[in-house]
Amino acid sequence: MRYVEEVLAKVKKQYAAEPEFIQAVEEVLETIAPVIDANEELYRREAILERITTPDRAIIFRIPWVDDNGQVQVNTGYRVQFNNAIGPYKGGLRLHPSVNLGIIKFLGFEQIFKNSLTGLPIGGGKGGSDFDPKGKSDREVMAFCQSFITELYKYIGADVDVPAGDIGTGAREIGYMYGQYKRITGLYEGVLTGKGLTYGGSLARTEATGYGLLYIVQEMMKCHGQEMAGKTVVISGAGNVATYAIQKAQQLGAKVVTCSDSNGWIYDPDGIDVALLKEVKEVKRARLTEYAAARPNAEYHEGRGVWSVKCDIALPCATQNELHLEDAKQLVANGVMAVAEGANMPTTMEATKYLQDNGVWFIPGKASNAGGVATSALEMSQNSERLSWSFEEVDAKLQGIMVNIYHNIEDAAKRYGKEGDYVTGANIAGFEKVVTAMIAQGVC
Ligand code: NDP
Repeated sequence: MRYVEEVLAKVKKQYAAEPEFIQAVEEVLETIAPVIDANEELYRREAILERITTPDRAIIFRIPWVDDNGQVQVNTGYRVQFNNAIGPYKGGLRLHPSVNLGIIKFLGFEQIFKNSLTGLPIGGGKGGSDFDPKGKSDREVMAFCQSFITELYKYIGADVDVPAGDIGTGAREIGYMYGQYKRITGLYEGVLTGKGLTYGGSLARTEATGYGLLYIVQEMMKCHGQEMAGKTVVISGAGNVATYAIQKAQQLGAKVVTCSDSNGWIYDPDGIDVALLKEVKEVKRARLTEYAAARPNAEYHEGRGVWSVKCDIALPCATQNELHLEDAKQLVANGVMAVAEGANMPTTMEATKYLQDNGVWFIPGKASNAGGVATSALEMSQNSERLSWSFEEVDAKLQGIMVNIYHNIEDAAKRYGKEGDYVTGANIAGFEKVVTAMIAQGVC
């Protein structure tokens, strides 16, 4: 049996209870198979695939905290430090009831290749908890964050592992976590990114993932002789990534007509009003029904449905596995030109294949949402040199990084005879750098 098939079969058997992790490994291994086949003897002897699919360590811990009624609550915390061949572990912290070890492993595994693609010295990791910040008071969120860090601080550090935000972890949560880390260790260091601007945060970090997504889409469109101006865009999600993707798409002259949250979605034929969306989601932390109530022409629909809206470009920015095969069929039937992932693995494997087979330009999240972690790495650089760069400086670097990523993944796909297959290109380009570093560092 080919080495790549052998390892995939082993992973499927060993981690049968972790479907998202298997899905991520399968997608990567299948697309990098030509590279593995070409180096089969060396990679097999070095056990490269076994090593890259096994985290350096996975830490699981109890998080006890007291709610506003004096009741002790207990959540589970995770940090998966996957691979630090090219730099300190780097990846966000997800706070959502769906979090389990398999989800954190899938995210940490993807992060290895994404971080490599940025061209910056950062390894792959991810963490989080099944805690749900929704509906909790600020004091409860603080109690949880302090307890979370009281355990996690032992395993992180500016040159060891630098967590960041993700679903459910925004500026408020990072602030509470940073305060507790500082209190326990006495260190004022760049141990977390996504910090507030008055205590070591980077300008443009908040916008980075959404803006970066549009920068790479813009470059791809340009290379295909198209422009963003005048295009109709549908976006899912109404969180950090979605909000700033909407904002940048509109700045580039496109019209974004949808957004969504876990309850329902909005169709706004006049174009989403970003200021209102921010007011509803960031300030009031309310549901999208409030957005619809304030916009007479906007429609609110319960459940899923953004992919049924006719568009030129679709950008899934909410969560994993939110764009299914039927959605892909509908998008193609409606003439979609490009799909780029703002979220991590939002498109199922069948949907991805259908889109690619039908000539849709498809950029996977590990390339198209890498702007967030890239800007986090820029925050780390600013913390190390104890300086703050201007918004324009960070934004220009972000734009340069996203344009580079596009050309790297395009080149890698071409080199292996898969022109236009950005999934293969991203996996190969990300893998090559990490594997070279792993081999150079010996068996570790
Ligand atoms: P947020 O928590 O800010 O927003 C997430 C959005 O997705 C919310 O609108 C949320 O709805 C919705 N959502 C979450 N879970 C579900 C679900 N199960 N079904 C339907 N909708 C859901 O997170 P981010 O915007 O930061 O992250 C979004 C995605 O982007 C994630 O996949 C994340 O891993 C990825 N990502 C984020 C980066 C960042 O810099 N923030 C960087 C790279 C990737 P509701 O408001 O109802 O909760």
